[in-house]
Amino acid sequence: MLSDKKYFLFDIDGTLAVDDTLYEGSRELIDYIESIGGRAFYITNNSVKSRKDYVEKFRRWGIMTKESQFMTASYATCRYLKEHYKDKKLFALGTPSFVEELRSFGLAVTEQSEKDADCVVVGFDRTLSYEKVETACELLFRPAVDFIGTNPDLKCPTAFGFVPDCGGICAMLTAAVARTPLYIGKPSAEIVTLCTKQVNAKPEEVLVVGDRLYTDIACGINAGVETALVYTGEAKEKDLADTVFMPDYTFENIEKLYQEFRKSREEAYYAF
Ligand SMILES: [Mg+2]
Repeated sequence: MLSDKKYFLFDIDGTLAVDDTLYEGSRELIDYIESIGGRAFYITNNSVKSRKDYVEKFRRWGIMTKESQFMTASYATCRYLKEHYKDKKLFALGTPSFVEELRSFGLAVTEQSEKDADCVVVGFDRTLSYEKVETACELLFRPAVDFIGTNPDLKCPTAFGFVPDCGGICAMLTAAVARTPLYIGKPSAEIVTLCTKQVNAKPEEVLVVGDRLYTDIACGINAGVETALVYTGEAKEKDLADTVFMPDYTFENIEKLYQEFRKSREEAYYAF
């Protein structure tokens, strides 16, 4: 039930905001969650920004957060790589911020000129050059070199429409090298667990909120918690007709979710 929720795991792009613009109702809902003793977490497949970048971005929106509230695909990927590629060399298709994050985990990221690596790691690389693409292909034609992507999202919403996200960049590589990556971000349940463990949340107290069926909603389903879809990003109402990732709740936008959540709690209170 909606009124049982205390821990909200929000997708950011297309759910709470688009680019630098916070949607109407986002701050109100986040403040309300705090006021009832709950906690908002932000699970995002955006691998351009580090957790520190997000704290700063939210501060500019007037929302105070801690780094531990952000579970990014790049952070989850760093944790995975630290476990499996500790003394290996990585070649990254990623922003300087992502490369810095990999290095902060003690991981060895090779430079473009070296053309020697054990694994090609792809993020949402807004500094992508054809030179980097060529190096990645050269490495991926060696069967011993692994292929990892931070997140499978094909496209990222912008003010004008969409641009290719990590999954889109990987699809371009796949077209050339006929290999597919292992993805670490959503819809992996791990990203949900990394949040809920922090607060010992019961599954019925958790709601995953997002705009995309095959990442956000799938991730909640994989983690065994309820999900809410908002129609302010990728998924539209007609997409529900042929998806296996069926959300428990749907809302026109985040403001509608805020109003319904408040109402459900007030009704539960008066019923009691
Ligand atoms: Mg989204």
